[in-house]
Amino acid sequence: MLDDVLRGLADSYFRLPEWLRRGAGGFYRRIPPRWRMGRTYRETFAFIRESEFWSLPRHRVWQWGKIEETVRLAYEHVPYYHRRFGAAGLHPADLRSFDDFQRLPFLTKADVKEYLEEMASRGVPRWKWLATTTGGSTRTPMRFYQLKGVTRSKERAFVHDMWGRFGYRPGRRAVQIKGRHVGRPDRGRFWEYEPIQNVLEMDSHYLTESNLPAYVEAIRRFAPEFLIGYVSSIYLLARWLEEHKEAGFPRLVGLFLASENLYPWQRALFRRVFQCPICSHYGHSEMVLLGAECPFSPRYHFYPQYGYLELIGADGKPCTRPGEVGELVGTSFDNPVMPFIRYRTEDYGVLGSSFCECGRNYPVLDRIEGRLQEFIVTRSGRLISICVMGAAHFDMLDNVYQTQYYQEEPGKVEFRVVPRRSFAAEDLHRIQAAVQERTGADVEVTVRVVKEIPRTPSGKHRMIVQKIELPAFLRPGGEETHA
Ligand SMILES: [Zn+2]
Repeated sequence: MLDDVLRGLADSYFRLPEWLRRGAGGFYRRIPPRWRMGRTYRETFAFIRESEFWSLPRHRVWQWGKIEETVRLAYEHVPYYHRRFGAAGLHPADLRSFDDFQRLPFLTKADVKEYLEEMASRGVPRWKWLATTTGGSTRTPMRFYQLKGVTRSKERAFVHDMWGRFGYRPGRRAVQIKGRHVGRPDRGRFWEYEPIQNVLEMDSHYLTESNLPAYVEAIRRFAPEFLIGYVSSIYLLARWLEEHKEAGFPRLVGLFLASENLYPWQRALFRRVFQCPICSHYGHSEMVLLGAECPFSPRYHFYPQYGYLELIGADGKPCTRPGEVGELVGTSFDNPVMPFIRYRTEDYGVLGSSFCECGRNYPVLDRIEGRLQEFIVTRSGRLISICVMGAAHFDMLDNVYQTQYYQEEPGKVEFRVVPRRSFAAEDLHRIQAAVQERTGADVEVTVRVVKEIPRTPSGKHRMIVQKIELPAFLRPGGEETHA
């Protein structure tokens, strides 16, 4: 795929002189996207549109076909699955229903790390493997393989379909604020125009209070129709804009959020500041599951054409009643190099009540709850979701720029704040009291003033740095986790 080849060259591309880049990129952009992005992209995109409004039974039949194909392929070509299925006394021919499928063992992140080489298919030549690593988290990154030239084209087709619900088409003017290193930070330029996608790419690493006016001015001059970015980056931008209404900000057609949980207070702020439709989505680098909002509802619609979603409760059984919380477990459909079968994502969701008025019969989750590491652990072993704690929505945080929870041992938590010039000594006590009130008595809260809060290698701001490895029995699923 042409786009992939160019992306591979992206680093050298960004080193070309600007006039050359604009010329080459502008010319390239005139080729229609469906040709530029190749056959896999075209076919995937066409299939998503064709199957978009299928009935539920029709989706199930199609998904079952993909599951059978994936399991058979895994059993025949992937040593790891051959061994695991064998040890469980299972053969692909025994699987005749979705119930049977649940007899297959789960795949954990620890398994992937431990058995990586054994997990790649012997049926796909090595030169077609695309080595990938999971993005920045507090945990060790995980390596895995995808199919070169195919997995990413398919991914792009899904993303374009998802944003397409909100009017996006490839080539429309967009600003993207993510962790990509672009621009000349030493000269105060933290962005770079990327003419192939017609995107102003901005580096989230330098998004500090003193640099924000320059970022906003660059966005204003570029006049995008769409804004794309990490929730935490857009949040900093939105807070600044709310306080500087005079700065003037372009009217957006849509705001697209990725990679992080979107908390209710953040959504409310984005609505106020940007006054445009918002689409947040759930996805991950493993590309096993993808869920996104539609214009009718802020709930996550999981693409049945992308992977098979199971929501597994604390008892190890699938959630059936709306409102139940479970772990997202996924089976990939489009990775013949390294199929993920019943993969535990360590992310948690709330089962949706019914299908949506948009007419898509996609499985729906009402919310994605905190990731496993986004909990505070109390002395008695209670888990408090960051969703409930908030991190920056108390009124007393007006005088701070950024915050972060930091925890190393149960029952003790440090709340780090980056002060603004208006910050005074009494703020410290008010914040301490407010946080303490929310955690309850079995957590000792200390507030610490810091100069800055380091970002993850991929440029995200983390709400909590959780150093405690949560044992399995402490995993959320019960009432107390979101008390
Ligand atoms: Zn919908």
